[in-house]
Order: sequence, then C-alpha cells, then structure tokens
Amino acid sequence: MLVVMKNDATEEQIKAISDVIRNMGYTPEPVPGVQRQAICVLGNKSRVDSSHIEVMDGVKEVIHVTKPFKLVSRESKEKSIITVGNNKFGSITLPVIAGPCAVEDRVKFLEIADAVKHEGATMLRGGAFKPRTSPYAFQGLGEEGLKILAEARGKTGLPVCTEVMDTDTLAMVSEYADVVQIGARNMHNFSLLRKVGRQKKPILLKRGLSATINELLMAAEYILSEGNWNVILCERGIRTFEEQTRNTLDLSAIPIIHELSHLPIIVDPSHACGRWDSVPPLARAAVATGADGLLIEVHMNPLEALSDGPQSLKPEKFSQLMKDIKNIAASIGRKI
Ligand code: PEP
Ligand code: MN
Repeated sequence: MLVVMKNDATEEQIKAISDVIRNMGYTPEPVPGVQRQAICVLGNKSRVDSSHIEVMDGVKEVIHVTKPFKLVSRESKEKSIITVGNNKFGSITLPVIAGPCAVEDRVKFLEIADAVKHEGATMLRGGAFKPRTSPYAFQGLGEEGLKILAEARGKTGLPVCTEVMDTDTLAMVSEYADVVQIGARNMHNFSLLRKVGRQKKPILLKRGLSATINELLMAAEYILSEGNWNVILCERGIRTFEEQTRNTLDLSAIPIIHELSHLPIIVDPSHACGRWDSVPPLARAAVATGADGLLIEVHMNPLEALSDGPQSLKPEKFSQLMKDIKNIAASIGRKI
C-alpha cells in the first residue's frame, strides 16, 4: 500500500502516519521524490485496512499496490533518473557504457578507455573480478584492476562501472567503482543484493540467465528495500533453446519494465548474442525499442582478449555503431 501525501504535508503529519503504520505491525518506507511525498507500507501479506489512514491530516490518497514488488513499482513512483557524473539513466539522453569484458593490463585498458571516450562513450566498463565458467580461465586482476579503472577515470573524466562478485569484496569494489555491477549469475544472490542495498553507490543489476521479468524486479526490490534507490536494470539476454547465439535478447522486456517500474532499463547486446557482428543491429533495435542506455564490450584486439573476445567490437565498429544509434535515438525524440 502507498500513502500519497498532499504537497503541503508537514513533517509532523508524515511522522504521525508512519507511527500508525508501525502500530499496525508494518514498516513505513519513505519514497524519495521531488514532486510527490509518499510512504510505502511494507510487510503486509494481504490488503491493508486503510480506512483510518485515509482520513488523517496531510493524506491525499491511498493506493493499494497490487504487484508483489512495491518499491520498484510504477505505482509507488512515476520515474527514476539515476545520475552518475554526466550520465542520466532514464532521461532523454542515453548513456553508453563501453570497454572490455575484463581489465587485462594497465596500458591496454588506458588505450581502450581513450578510444571509447573519443567515440562518445559516457562511462567505462571492465571487470576486475570475473565470474568465469571455468575455474582455470582468467579470473580478473582483482584490486590491481580496480586501481587501473580508477586511473582511467582520472585520465578520461568518465565514471567507471565494474562487477562485484561477493559480499567479501563489496567494500573494496564500491570504494573504486562509480556504478557497482551485479552480474547475471548473481541476480539471485539475495545476501549480496541486500548488502549492495546498504551501500551508496548506484547499482547496475543484470537480468539472470533464466530469470523472468518479475524475478528481475523482485531482485531490484531487495536493493531498494535496504535503502538504495539508485538501481539501473540491464537486459543482457536470457538462455533459450537457440544455439546460434550465446543468449536470446529479450527486447520485449523494455516496454514491459517501463510499464511496471520507474527504474531505467539499459541493454547489453554483447552478452546477449555473444558474437560481435550481431552487436550493432541489436544495439540499434534496443535504442529503437526505448532502452535507457547501452552497455557494449569493446577491445583493441578481440582475438587476444582474455574473456569475451568473440563478442567484442573493435573501436572502429564501435564508432560506426555510435553514429547509427544517434540517428535512431533522434527519430524517437531521444539523444545519445
Ligand atoms: C560482464 O558484464 O562482463 C558479464 C559477466 O556480464 P553478465 O553477468 O551479463 O554475463
Ligand atoms: Mn563479458
């Protein structure tokens, strides 16, 4: 349930309502917003009797949230814009996060960072802790990789996004990162979701390999329920019976999530298809479908990449992609 307050509601009135909600055995959670003050009621298993709250001073209306996810629902908030440096996820201007799958080496990373910035990327990416199918594959440079990311941020002025794999390394990762990525394999790691909800850095939450849209939104609900409302969702393909591509990009998730949630949703076509030649057409389709941003893997020499080379674009292909999506964005009233 959501208690929407009048524009001129006072702090005392909000406190009085929060006290009543607590006395009923539920948890009041203030919903951040500039235009509207609201309190979300958490912890109820069935419809809450709101009759005495509706008549309290300062209350504009009471909305019964019908979805299992409450804080992420559009019923609780109209729209969220997540700001990271000059990036505004959920605004008319689409951020583009680009860089290699993993930070492999200082000189190589600084070179890619420069190249993608030159082509118009607005945020850098690169994993320092890599979730690999094989324990014998390159696992990332760890803290050394985080330091390289920080150096690249200093040199380019672009914020950096990098993955956290477990609760043990969260404090370290969030110290260096501007956006902390929760990878597809960790979307169901509820203790990690709760922990990233308790720290302040914005979260890029990727959809699990076989997660439904509802499960993705419930994973985001874990993060918001701990107090961190800066969550960016990411559609990165789901596992289907198709074998030509690594995953199947579910573009229908974009309009559906926009209808169900106030959170922005970006698209990662690189992990979705797993092959570089399909990345540009899928990126164009994502922008046309209304994605709030893109995440693209770029490598100077994909044949030598230590992870995800086959899906990585060379800078010149990335450059062409940036030009193409500018036109598509303009045709639907958005900007790159
Ligand atoms: C990545 O971004 O490099 C990554 C491992 O992504 P995902 O979790 O979507 O597989
Ligand atoms: Mn990757």
